[in-house]
Amino acid sequence: MSGKGKEEKSLFEKIWTLANHRGFVFPSAEIYGGIAGIYDLGPLGAKMKNNLIQAWREFFVLRETNPPVYELDGSTILPYEALKASGHLDSFTDPTVSCLKCKKWMRADHLIEDSLDMYVEGMTLEQLNRIIRENNLGCPDCGGGLSEVTFFNLMLEVQVGPADGQTAFLRPETAQDIFLDFKRVQQSMRAKLPFGIAQIGKSYRNEISPRQGLIRVREFTQMEIEMFIHPNEIGNHPSFDKVKDIKIRILTREQQKKGETEPLETTAKESVVSKILPNPYMAYYLAKETIFYQSLGIPYDKFHFRHMMPEETPFYSGGNFDLEVELSIGRKEIIGNAYRTNYDLSNHMKKSGKDLSISVDGEKVIPEVVEPSFGVERAIYCILEHCYREDDGRGWSWFQFPPKIAPITALILPLVRREPLMEIAFKTYETLKENGLEVDYDDRGSVGKRYARADEIGIPFCVTVDYKTAEASTVTIRDRDSREQAVINKNDLIEILSKLVSGIINFEKLL
Ligand code: ATP
Repeated sequence: MSGKGKEEKSLFEKIWTLANHRGFVFPSAEIYGGIAGIYDLGPLGAKMKNNLIQAWREFFVLRETNPPVYELDGSTILPYEALKASGHLDSFTDPTVSCLKCKKWMRADHLIEDSLDMYVEGMTLEQLNRIIRENNLGCPDCGGGLSEVTFFNLMLEVQVGPADGQTAFLRPETAQDIFLDFKRVQQSMRAKLPFGIAQIGKSYRNEISPRQGLIRVREFTQMEIEMFIHPNEIGNHPSFDKVKDIKIRILTREQQKKGETEPLETTAKESVVSKILPNPYMAYYLAKETIFYQSLGIPYDKFHFRHMMPEETPFYSGGNFDLEVELSIGRKEIIGNAYRTNYDLSNHMKKSGKDLSISVDGEKVIPEVVEPSFGVERAIYCILEHCYREDDGRGWSWFQFPPKIAPITALILPLVRREPLMEIAFKTYETLKENGLEVDYDDRGSVGKRYARADEIGIPFCVTVDYKTAEASTVTIRDRDSREQAVINKNDLIEILSKLVSGIINFEKLL
């Protein structure tokens, strides 16, 4: 992990405090002390999450035609048998160690990485125990001695029905519903390979030591796609031309072995030709993710795709590429991209005894799968940190959220608390809301103070109703980023704000 300097760490604390105070996120069940690693999104966080999901759904699901992507809304509770077959019951574990004195539980790999700056992914229990012994590691909190390292399963068990009911688990990833429902979706949609199935929903992991706010939590939201591909066609993506020239940054295995940290820049096409990526389906997603995360306000040079090392990759994988974002608390994975081959479908076929193959030209085929797996909460934290701006002569800190992701698009305000300005402003606010725009109304304090409040929660535009509005039907629209103002006709407001949000126009166009 890099970048853990003192100043940088305080940036995390600043963002986290602001996020709490300004209503993005707070501990769940706080008045009862809550549960570590479980958070509620407040009014602004919930709106941002909805905007993020909507943008993702449009870009990765609704607009996709070739291959098409269907959306599923599956159960969060899955039976024991399904998760035994998927391998989660036996190997969805993390190495854990506890302090013999203060009883604190820790991830053994994190403890070693943090104390010795040593890379231990994929090591056996014996190896981890030896490192702890040889380096005399103790509890980072109280210095007490440590227990033996053991593996801890991260799934949360639930008992369905009365005492002797069925054992089940809260799903640790949304992907398994997709594999279990694959045949149903294929038949009901009369889908032909290749096609994708997407799912957006909660996943649960009993993380040993949840930490760093929204980065490692026990209940979180995933947006996943399983793209099902004919094994003979994995080298041909029907829409690859659309992304072939998109630039992507990849940290290769060779670079990592040499200790290099600066990723290689290539294009989607070049990455396949040079065999850096295993197939054009993987390159297609890496290219789209590059476009998508930039549109959320994360700069191009602040993220890359890391080819996971063999010891970090499941044995059946044809290649895993994590999207990692540079943050003040180090590089964090926010998307896992995996070439899952036909492992999941084959396993579920074997264990359930059901035929999940599909017939193509009279032949039975088990499709191969490429999966991008996005985490919503981690993305929200990255957006908060990368859009955070310190005082640039304004006298207050602010968030430069792109309009499509900002929780509130525009703040409507009467110039002063007098009629008819207040009434006109409130009516304008109501009309905008009725037309589906995320707007707010504020008539308290000076205009400057209201601009400041708007900036602080990243509202891109302020619309001021003044005496001219009453006379000439004009309003003044202020741009958060440039602080420029433009006078526009009140009747054009819905159209202009909608275009600004969707990016069809930018503010300079109004000047
Ligand atoms: P990590 O190594 O950080 O535990 P992972 O490799 O287990 O993550 P995946 O199984 O690839 O994560 O999950 C896909 C995505 O789901 C991650 O990229 C991340 O955005 C999100 N995610 C996974 N675990 C958590 C968690 N505990 N809290 C928040 N988001 C998570």
